[in-house]
Amino acid sequence: MKEETPEDEDKPRKEAELKIGDESIYTEEEAKTLVECLGILQNTRGVGSFPCPRCGYNRMKDPVAKNALSRRADVYICSECGQEEAILDAAGKDPLPLNRWDMVIALAKEMKGW
Ligand SMILES: [Zn+2]
Repeated sequence: MKEETPEDEDKPRKEAELKIGDESIYTEEEAKTLVECLGILQNTRGVGSFPCPRCGYNRMKDPVAKNALSRRADVYICSECGQEEAILDAAGKDPLPLNRWDMVIALAKEMKGW
């Protein structure tokens, strides 16, 4: 959390709501909706034109079924991310929250005009 100054209290929701790389911007539910919208696009237009929504790298394979289906949302992710999810699950660790996925963070930045 940032230090609170009297000035911050006058415009409380601007900076506090959006803290990239720190706290989440969207709720997990909102993030899931966003990510699954991409899932629909992947199924209709193929994954080739989209980067991996989880890591943001351009390494999705065509056709769509060659990629990994996320365990967290109805969307395809790259094989590396698929493996990572599987490993985290197997180790009983917390998954990367959907609202920390690269795509969701990128969208949040765009909404803010960054
Ligand atoms: Zn990935």
